[in-house]
Amino acid sequence: MREQQAKKVRVATCSLAGCFGCHMSLLDIDERLIDLVELVEFDRSPITDIKEVGPSDLGLIEGGVCNAENVEVLRAFRRQCKTLVAVGACAITGGVPAMRNHYPLHECLDEAYVNGLGVQDGGIPNDPELPLLLNQVHPIHEVVKVDYFLPGCPPAADTIWTFLEQLLSGKPVEFAYRQIHYD
Ligand code: SF4
Repeated sequence: MREQQAKKVRVATCSLAGCFGCHMSLLDIDERLIDLVELVEFDRSPITDIKEVGPSDLGLIEGGVCNAENVEVLRAFRRQCKTLVAVGACAITGGVPAMRNHYPLHECLDEAYVNGLGVQDGGIPNDPELPLLLNQVHPIHEVVKVDYFLPGCPPAADTIWTFLEQLLSGKPVEFAYRQIHYD
């Protein structure tokens, strides 16, 4: 039994500038989660509530990089994870959060906190506890080396399962056409 546990692959996950939709898609593999927990144990993830990533075999990152804390977390994942996967459009291209890249940051902050519809007596938050926003939202491969890209918004549960099953069993990662066809 102990020998079986020692062989489990350690997996860490996190959401940077994302909506947790990619994590929800992982949970949507439904009963195959039972097969998954036979193969893996979780490090930092919403399941364990571990805050700092530890040495892991596989890191799954959703979301783009929009602030200084995202950069710090992402670099820590890269240091600790042997294999790093960009999961979903936001991690791969910046996705929905990167829509703000069309506007200067100060205009976005003014719209959200000062002059936006319904804002009264607004002011831009300036607490040192708040992560410092970057001028632009970046895909994660602009900050660290990424080993695999798993596209979709979110990637379908079936696609995530195929990816994990093949990767964890050491097979080449291949998808059926229907799993990587988006229109
Ligand atoms: Fe959410 Fe889609 Fe971005 Fe995933 S890719 S974090 S589902 S918006």
